[in-house]
Amino acid sequence: MSLYIPSIARRQLLRGAASLAGLALAPAAIGGVVLAAPSLADNPFSLGVASGEPTDDGVVLWTRLAPKPLEPDGGMPPERVAVRWEVAEDPAMRKVVRAGKAMAAPNAGHSVHVEVAGLKPNREYWYRFTAAGAQSPVGRTVTAPAKGAAVDRLRLCYASCQKFEAGFYSAHAHMAQEAPDLVLFLGDYIYEGAPRSKDAVRLHANPEPKDVAGYRVRYASYKTDPLLQAAHAVAPWMVTWDDHEVANDYGADRDQDSFDPQGFLRRRAAAYQVYYEHMPLRRRTMPVGPDMLLYRTLDWGSLAQIQMVDDRQYRDGKPCQPAGPPKRGKLIGDCEERRDPGRSILGKPQEAWLLDALASSKAQWNLLAQQTLMAELQLGDPAKQATRFYSSDGWDGYPANRDRILQRWREAKVSNPLALGGDIHAFAAADLTGTPDGPPVAATFVGGSISSTGGESDAFAAKNPHIKQFDGKVRGYGRVDLTPKGGRVTFRTVENALVPMSPVRDLASFALENGRPGVHRV
Ligand code: FE
Ligand code: CA
Repeated sequence: MSLYIPSIARRQLLRGAASLAGLALAPAAIGGVVLAAPSLADNPFSLGVASGEPTDDGVVLWTRLAPKPLEPDGGMPPERVAVRWEVAEDPAMRKVVRAGKAMAAPNAGHSVHVEVAGLKPNREYWYRFTAAGAQSPVGRTVTAPAKGAAVDRLRLCYASCQKFEAGFYSAHAHMAQEAPDLVLFLGDYIYEGAPRSKDAVRLHANPEPKDVAGYRVRYASYKTDPLLQAAHAVAPWMVTWDDHEVANDYGADRDQDSFDPQGFLRRRAAAYQVYYEHMPLRRRTMPVGPDMLLYRTLDWGSLAQIQMVDDRQYRDGKPCQPAGPPKRGKLIGDCEERRDPGRSILGKPQEAWLLDALASSKAQWNLLAQQTLMAELQLGDPAKQATRFYSSDGWDGYPANRDRILQRWREAKVSNPLALGGDIHAFAAADLTGTPDGPPVAATFVGGSISSTGGESDAFAAKNPHIKQFDGKVRGYGRVDLTPKGGRVTFRTVENALVPMSPVRDLASFALENGRPGVHRV
């Protein structure tokens, strides 16, 4: 099969391969330290490189050494291996401005997370790693503008839901070709299911993961995809998770069908550890047992502030469930418990942090990066109370929490709020209104799915008048362009995610107007 690879990825892949082929396979000495020399029959950089968490003076650089990526230990010896890193001002890596050494340790799956500081604000950099005589592809990254600085523009792409079996990653290739300043990944980076041949274009590599070894193989198998690697290598990512990074429809210490919180928390600890190992995250995010602090703020000068939240780890249980185990009811009526003002999808501490952050933001555009459709979605027939129902797994299971955010946006006069999301395997654009038929307080845009199928029915959405666009049949990603004068959200869809490389087109575009919240189609 000949696979089209976008030019940037192809260049990087070739560069990585060439540097491997040209190197003598002797133990290398870097900074006087003799490195362990794992067998170099295979490329230790098989999972690519990534960067993330940009600030105005630095960024996190990531890689994981895995010459045999589908083995639980990645084909690495049980010892620490030194990894040299370099950051340059040019793609040819001639003007190196920062360099150092990190240790890839077995208890971290031989991943490295380098927190580079001392870089200049608001500019491009390139980086690479060297380990055990091999050199990684070169990645591009971007630092954030200085705090409060005027900024002309920000281009970010956002994506979610990339089930490996459901399709190929052309969307990532197109995202890479846009050379955005930033990529937001909003959850379902992996799916935890066992290999299933029905409708699969390729199969999961291992049985359903439940422990560190299993999740390592699952994450590594996704990360071997060259188009996903290209998207990581083109820009810094900010990531959050949804449910499938651990288990379907889980919340806090419960998965969808078990009443074994202790057992589930052990599984969650393994999944969170391996998630950390595979993402360009800061050390302060490193999990402790089953806990991992993932909510945070990203500033982009005076132009934008992004609050990235975690709606899985701290949520209250599903409302209005039938008595007795297992509690599975995903679809619920408009029941009393659903509306309980004490309930939170973010959990009290995170919610307090978010409401404070929103009130104190001085940025012109305020983006809430969250996992799912933030707008209400009435399923069934909204005209008939008796047949009206909701999904309990998203904001509709926690409407009081959503109302408190809308209220804060309105009362604190937060400048130009909008919410981005994923999860529903559809493109959606909706007004967020505080009251039925009230004026929009904000807009929300779900940027489709990279490959996952089976989105909510378009017909249900048509019965929700605040939802201005809904398309669950196509795959792709969202793009947001922001300037001080205004912005644009564009839904980018691939023609066919079932083939390895497919062209992209615009499905729809929406204007972001300064001081005029809501969905404005262009
Ligand atoms: Fe999904
Ligand atoms: Ca999901």
